[in-house]
Amino acid sequence: MEKAILSVRNLKTYFFTQRGTIKAVDGIDFDLLPSECLCLVGESGCGKTVTALSILGLIDSPPGRIVAGEVVYHDVNLLKSSREQVRQIRGKEIAMIFQDAQSALNPVLTIGDQIAEQIKLHLKFSRREAKERTVSLLKEVGIPSPAEAADYYPHQLSGGMKQRAMIAMSLSCDPQILIADEPTTAVDVTIKAQILDIFRRLKETRQMSLLFITHELGVVSEIGDRMVVMYAGRLAETATVAELLGNPRHPYTVGLINCLPDMTQGNDRLQSIPGTVPSLIEPTNGCLFHPRCDKALAICRRQKEPSVLVNQGHSVFCHLYSPAETSQPC
Ligand code: SF4
Repeated sequence: MEKAILSVRNLKTYFFTQRGTIKAVDGIDFDLLPSECLCLVGESGCGKTVTALSILGLIDSPPGRIVAGEVVYHDVNLLKSSREQVRQIRGKEIAMIFQDAQSALNPVLTIGDQIAEQIKLHLKFSRREAKERTVSLLKEVGIPSPAEAADYYPHQLSGGMKQRAMIAMSLSCDPQILIADEPTTAVDVTIKAQILDIFRRLKETRQMSLLFITHELGVVSEIGDRMVVMYAGRLAETATVAELLGNPRHPYTVGLINCLPDMTQGNDRLQSIPGTVPSLIEPTNGCLFHPRCDKALAICRRQKEPSVLVNQGHSVFCHLYSPAETSQPC
């Protein structure tokens, strides 16, 4: 496999609250390869956003803390780097687009000023150079009349245009990695298609790596090269998108795929996996999916799920695939 541009190893991010320790991310590993789109998939609260914030050193402490693991970017472990080193990398080499463009943009500054500010901060451009680059970025993300649009305040833009402005801002310093946290969740279907198109184009023209966080498998099939499925702060399954959607092994992934509406059968209603996501406060040692799993074995309640390589590049975290497994159904 190609050398990863970003490697996450045994990452554990916990939140220490009065109610107990919330294990939001509990020992996950994945690699992001050059010029690929890796999708991080799972239900709300499974740890996707906490993973992204951990990579960028943006976990609020207290109550949060990264208690173990490595985040290696170009051979440098960001978790062992100084705040200043991480601040230099954040925004410049690894940029992030947040889910809610409305609250991520400053309402009292024009979008042009906000983008130019990033450029001046990281690239030391003059005012005029920063302005020219801002207009060019707005054009690149498909904002009409970009020179005039640079003088608009966020409230003068539609939801789709705000999201484009956020993408332009994230590109301001030519990052090598772009982390996009549910960038299509708050927009309608037409805008969603346009935004996915922008990401596809950026990946090709800029050769950048994308870490794309989403709970929508339809979006994954449109944009992803590989995917990582998370459940309750842990990994469930990783593989290429084609392999994982065509040949899912983990019962949770199978459930997610079965939840997709089958339009060919005239069924456009969204289903959901029975049961609820478990509490992440002091979770048990067993597989956290076992209360919802119709394939659960006796061992699943008491022993953490093993990682099993079922195919080249396809790993599943489940007792069902362990060669040593002789347990009885529960
Ligand atoms: Fe189901 Fe057991 Fe696999 Fe967990 S480890 S998904 S409970 S079969």
